[in-house]
Amino acid sequence: RAAKKNGSDWVVYDEAKHSDEREQEILHELKKDIVEFTGFSLYYQPKINLKTRKIDSAEVLLRWENKQLGMVSPAEFIPIAEKYGLIQDLTKSIFFRACQQVKRWNQEHFPIQKLAVNLSATFFQLQNGNEMIKDILEQTEVNPKSINIELEVTETAIMENVNRAIEMLDDLRGIGLTIALDDFGTGLSSLTYLKNLPIDTLKIDKAFIEGIPGDEKDNGITELIVLISKKIGLEIVAEGIEILEQDQFLTSIGCDYGQGYFYSKPLSLEQLTERFGSSKQN
Ligand code: C2E
Ligand code: MG
Ligand code: MG
Ligand code: MG
Repeated sequence: RAAKKNGSDWVVYDEAKHSDEREQEILHELKKDIVEFTGFSLYYQPKINLKTRKIDSAEVLLRWENKQLGMVSPAEFIPIAEKYGLIQDLTKSIFFRACQQVKRWNQEHFPIQKLAVNLSATFFQLQNGNEMIKDILEQTEVNPKSINIELEVTETAIMENVNRAIEMLDDLRGIGLTIALDDFGTGLSSLTYLKNLPIDTLKIDKAFIEGIPGDEKDNGITELIVLISKKIGLEIVAEGIEILEQDQFLTSIGCDYGQGYFYSKPLSLEQLTERFGSSKQN
């Protein structure tokens, strides 16, 4: 294809070529590493209960360090894993390890007793997605009615096929798992979804939290989302809290949970144990 010799076109051409090469490289390395979960590790980002000020739950965030590519962000490799059908194997490995971990914490009376796992955007397209989840719960002997496991799903994933998603979510909630709607506010958020979706928790996207407390619109929208959630019985989590003023604002409007660099970055198991190893919290 002919690339025109004017500045912006060259940039477009180069970027497209670069990103395609990069995608193929990542795909190639992913295929190798996924087999034995090589270079992957589960990180845990704490969530703080804004009423008790205790950190009692966390979210699993995947990290990948590849021999050739170094650290690759999940924001980059997860969409590629989804595009090429590799995400299911990855999700299996993550969910299996997350179940083992939360069960261990439960036995040890570790301060963190609830763990959230992200499901991929293509989860609801799977014929056997729920079977996969149930199989792993059985293998790890985790009963979600006594051990708290939350699944984080996005609106965009649900919107692809709302009826199918509702059916699958109903079934998962039926066995005791809870469901969080992640990144709320970034998709085509509609009140109809809040009315109809079988969910337990709403996570307000950090795009709204960012502007707090300076931006009156972000303040107002966030306050309203918190209010609606409480009115209809949803638990509400704010993500991306980075400064004290945001913590104070969200606490003052009655938000249930906060998550963000202000409290803690995602931590390795070692770091997490070092910080929360005893039943006391700092
Ligand atoms: P997410 O589930 O919405 O996770 C929140 C992202 O925001 C994480 O990025 C987290 O590190 C980051 N974050 C947390 N607190 C702050 C903050 O205060 N400020 C800022 N600027 N960022 C903050 P991360 O780990 O790079 O993950 C990005 C996305 O990749 C996740 O968004 C999720 O959609 C996906 N992802 C990560 N791990 C997994 C996984 O195990 N499975 C699947 N399917 N997706 C995953
Ligand atoms: Mg999430
Ligand atoms: Mg999120
Ligand atoms: Mg996000």
